[in-house]
Amino acid sequence: MSFRCPECYAELPEDTLWVCPVCRYTLRTPGAAKVGVVFMVLGLVLLGAFVYGPDQLGLSNGFVPTDLARMTIANFPLLVFGAFALGALLVVAAALKIRGEQARVASA
Ligand SMILES: [Zn+2]
Repeated sequence: MSFRCPECYAELPEDTLWVCPVCRYTLRTPGAAKVGVVFMVLGLVLLGAFVYGPDQLGLSNGFVPTDLARMTIANFPLLVFGAFALGALLVVAAALKIRGEQARVASA
């Protein structure tokens, strides 16, 4: 079973996993990139919640233990930053993985 590159239509060897050896088109997005994007979206949502007001989220309605609710509200900027940072880290790691594969293909 042979595949063709969606970008340049070159026939791809069966061991091609990430990058087209002809045009270096990225054939697959590493899972880490997708997870990273999810985290960055989460960060965005959290940022929205932060702007709206973390104490408006219903964390203090007794559903969440008061200490935990208070801690979450107090550390909200950290939470937003953490989600963004983790997301960015994963996206960068995935980008480096692709860069590495492109370098490997180029030197082959
Ligand atoms: Zn190609």
